Amino acid sequence: MTPASGPPTVTGSASPPETRVLSGTAIAADIRQQVTADVEAFRRKHGYAPALAVLVLGPDPVFAVYVRQILRTCAGVGLEGREVRVPGRASPARVRRELAALNADAHVAGIIVQHPLPPSVPLRTVLDALEPAKDVDGVTPLNAGLVTLGYPAFAPATAQAAIEILERSGRALEGLHAVVIGRSRVVGRPVAQLLLRRHCTVTICHTRTRDLAGLTRQADVLVVAAGRPGLVTGAMLKPGAIVVDVGINVVDGRIVGDVDAASADGVAGAITPVPGGVGPVTNAVLVRHVIRAAELQAGTARRP
Ligand code: NAD
Repeated sequence: MTPASGPPTVTGSASPPETRVLSGTAIAADIRQQVTADVEAFRRKHGYAPALAVLVLGPDPVFAVYVRQILRTCAGVGLEGREVRVPGRASPARVRRELAALNADAHVAGIIVQHPLPPSVPLRTVLDALEPAKDVDGVTPLNAGLVTLGYPAFAPATAQAAIEILERSGRALEGLHAVVIGRSRVVGRPVAQLLLRRHCTVTICHTRTRDLAGLTRQADVLVVAAGRPGLVTGAMLKPGAIVVDVGINVVDGRIVGDVDAASADGVAGAITPVPGGVGPVTNAVLVRHVIRAAELQAGTARRP
């Protein structure tokens, strides 16, 4: 594989295509640099740095890693990162109270609730109680609906990150056949909607899909968000395809994606690495959403 630079590989050339690595780290740094400038401008104008509140329900140390990364990203761009922890068994009433307080806090521009939720808290509790204007990860029905209808709105950060990478891949998306594996609310569905908005022809695959390989072999763009290591192999790719691997899986203590990177090499035209692909861009997009939300709430910006 080669780092991403120069024009994309042309499908159908005589020699096997060289697979470019679509690194997310440079894209994330680029986004964070702009956000840092925007946060500084906001702080000068309004006298405070807006906050992202991360509501953490229960004591799971696995997710503590993600929360730390988000808080570090906030600090890096000058935002206040505020962890709000409800230890032990969280009740729906307590979650509603915490969210009401954060909704009412003028310094809190964005709120995310760490997933997965504990069994004691139905998702609906969060969806009903979270103020859509502060829903910077696009989980509320209002934001999901706006994204589906093609209006500007906060899309889930991971879905938006996949699009950011594709848009900078060097290939125009319009008219391409995009195949998305996964139909979750946070990744698969919103990615498909965002690709549709960019005029791709979109196929969504999931666990009940028949002949997955038959569909992936037609994909000019393949977004894989299944959470199944090695689900997609090189034999399932159209030569020259742009592959965005959203999956994060731990196998033998190593983090791997859903795509078997070794067999995809030399078949895909370009592929995101795991780690170092969608992950860093997700956090950068999240903090960009926070500063946009702050500007919107302060009446100094238009919708995203
Ligand atoms: P999910 O479990 O909610 O959804 C997985 C989807 O994949 C489902 O719609 C399911 O139908 C489909 N699927 C599963 N196995 C399949 C198979 N064998 N064939 C076809 N479809 C199949 O997961 P999610 O929250 O959407 O996350 C997906 C992956 O992305 C996970 O690995 C997760 O860790 C990762 N993720 C990464 C980031 C990031 O920032 N990079 C953020 C969120 C999620």
